[in-house]
Amino acid sequence: MSAVQQIDAIIVGAGFSGMYQLLSLRDKLGMSAKVLEAGSGVGGTWFWNRYPGARCDSESHSYMYYFSKEMVNEWEWTERYPQQPEILRYLNYVADKFKLRPDIELNTRMQTAKFDEATNRWLITTDKGQQYSAKYFITAVGCLSSANLPKIEGISDFKGKWYHTGEWPHEGVDFKGKRVAVIGTGSTGIQAIPVIASQAAHVTVFQRTANYSLPARHHKLSGEFKKYAKEHADDIYEIMTTNTNGHPFHMQDRSIFDVSDEEREKIFEELWAQGGFQFRAAFKDILTSQEANDKAAEFIRKKIREVVKNPEVADLLSDIDHPFAAKRPPVDDHYFETYNRENVHLVNLRKTPIERITAKGVKTSDQEYEVDIIVFATGFDALTGSLVKMDIEGRQHRKLKDYWSAGPRTYLGLQVPGFPNMFTITGPGSPSVLCNMPPAIEQHVNWITNCIKHMEEKGLKVIETTEASGDYWQEQVNAVANETLLPTVKHSWYLGANVPGKPQVFMPYAGGLARYTKVCNDVTAKGYEGFQFAS
Ligand code: NAP
Repeated sequence: MSAVQQIDAIIVGAGFSGMYQLLSLRDKLGMSAKVLEAGSGVGGTWFWNRYPGARCDSESHSYMYYFSKEMVNEWEWTERYPQQPEILRYLNYVADKFKLRPDIELNTRMQTAKFDEATNRWLITTDKGQQYSAKYFITAVGCLSSANLPKIEGISDFKGKWYHTGEWPHEGVDFKGKRVAVIGTGSTGIQAIPVIASQAAHVTVFQRTANYSLPARHHKLSGEFKKYAKEHADDIYEIMTTNTNGHPFHMQDRSIFDVSDEEREKIFEELWAQGGFQFRAAFKDILTSQEANDKAAEFIRKKIREVVKNPEVADLLSDIDHPFAAKRPPVDDHYFETYNRENVHLVNLRKTPIERITAKGVKTSDQEYEVDIIVFATGFDALTGSLVKMDIEGRQHRKLKDYWSAGPRTYLGLQVPGFPNMFTITGPGSPSVLCNMPPAIEQHVNWITNCIKHMEEKGLKVIETTEASGDYWQEQVNAVANETLLPTVKHSWYLGANVPGKPQVFMPYAGGLARYTKVCNDVTAKGYEGFQFAS
């Protein structure tokens, strides 16, 4: 162990949130800060998720920071939806432009973070033997970064290669001539399957729950659009930060029942042709009224049946058991069309569940599928997984993983009762995954930075939230979720239901970014209501 280094703030994670938090504390407030990052490069999610077809479902001109006008003008996206390598290039460009690298410790995993009540400081240790004493401890670990590998018996018996999409090898995977099994048809599987199918000899897709998906209609950005996005950056940012999902378009202020059947069909057709999440924003009640949702869902099912030529396969793909967008809807590039390929076979796990992995492949209740490669597109221990995996100890030796054993408890998704001076960027209880992430991250980092500025200016040593604030916020999170159809899906990762044994609590704040931002601003205006300070 090396000597304890005194520092103002330790940040864990060098993705979108950690890098902006570093920049904010260091360059705006003149504080000392360090980012600890387990990966060998910056980028967070986009450093790890390198599976074939990995792209963002947010449009590129909205999937970026807006805090620097110079950067918005300088950086040029090439495609409507950016691919993983381009996003990673962007984040590396940010790290270079703002000279962040000297304050980012790569290949360094935080081991323990313990709050010392005698000094009101966090003692943080790393796997490299470093020790830091920091006034502030900020987690920037992402919401979808702890890979969920299902506990299917026999994985270690498999003689071929297997990969989880969230921990993809940097050198890539050669699928040429290979028989491949893909398990999982969420956003990741739906992106990866068409690309793998175009390379492999044969692909067997193991589907447990059929999923809606919206066409992306990817395209290269025209010079005209790039110019428009730069010239209208302020307007675009204004739209992103004053709506529900943080996207660069507003939800239409009309009910699905305000229009005739013909008119509705026409609107859906136009948005289907346009591609992307605009479809979800066509009517304000798609996610709040089951009847309204049924209309959108039926339109998508019809589209699936139109595209997929084999009627049995079409039935399997369109037999969807939950409301549209009540699980995170994927955006795809010829996903349903892929099932018209000769080399793609769909297995219905609802009828024939996986029994085990064997030396040769995947054994379901009715047959063994021999494959060379298994791809687990099985998602993440979302929102809390990365946080509870870390050894974080607050007041009176309270461990975060114990405190959250019945589900996460936070105030505003920003602080946890009993964990003073610790902030959780896009923590559970904030809009995070229900949003386009960069504006949600900027809002959180700005709030945290302003709060720290306030503390430094007033000479305050400690900020902490209370049990009562945690209770209050949990009620708010539940109440706004219950205004929507989101909690009606019992097998969603929003509830933690995808990880066996995980407590099932609705985790993100479903009230939308604009409403949430107002709540946070009101809390500040009322002298940080719900937090307590000590000097
Ligand atoms: P996911 O949505 O949790 O999907 C996991 C898939 O694996 C589901 O189809 C699930 O089936 C299946 N699965 C899990 N365990 C299984 C088991 N034991 N046996 C068989 N099937 C199993 O995970 P994801 O696709 O990685 O996406 C997670 C989130 O990441 C997305 O919702 C999105 O927020 C984000 N993401 C974004 C992008 C983007 O922006 N382009 C891309 C990828 C991911 P069930 O549905 O039956 O549980």
